[in-house]
Amino acid sequence: MLELPEQDPCEICRDMSAADAKLRLIDDCAHTMTVINPYQYEVGQCCVITKRHVATLLALSDEETAAILMAAKRVAHAMLKAFEPLGILTFQNNGIYSGQLAPHYHYHIIPRQLGSNWGIGPPQLAYFEGAGRMAGSADHDLDPVERKQLAQVAPSVLYETASKLRSCLPS
Ligand SMILES: [Zn+2]
Repeated sequence: MLELPEQDPCEICRDMSAADAKLRLIDDCAHTMTVINPYQYEVGQCCVITKRHVATLLALSDEETAAILMAAKRVAHAMLKAFEPLGILTFQNNGIYSGQLAPHYHYHIIPRQLGSNWGIGPPQLAYFEGAGRMAGSADHDLDPVERKQLAQVAPSVLYETASKLRSCLPS
């Protein structure tokens, strides 16, 4: 049994029913929603979330499992069109010892750009000089809290980015 983060209410369920949920929404499918990530470590960073409150990969139905990658593929195409990233990173955490912060399944899709400042994520990427994040750059030594503050953008910026991705989804 994986140890899960405790959260009441679940922030993803709360965000799904927030007043501005539609403005943060990129794609709406039968089992999933693709939403803009409130923290933009990369411009366009988003998550595919399950409509059902379910914590980890281990608890997904077969239909949800398939739907998540199909939704991820759709938004990856939109990212390529909208932002022309050099790479697209996907990852997902299960349990607090893997870095899971919200107890609701969410699959990260991140367009990588040269020189961008990766914060939370697979540690090898934080120092992946091949992706342009050079050791010794101004914010290289920021702690995770400071880096998270830098990645926080105004709601209007989130809405605009979500809208741009929405307009670039394959039909
Ligand atoms: Zn939830």
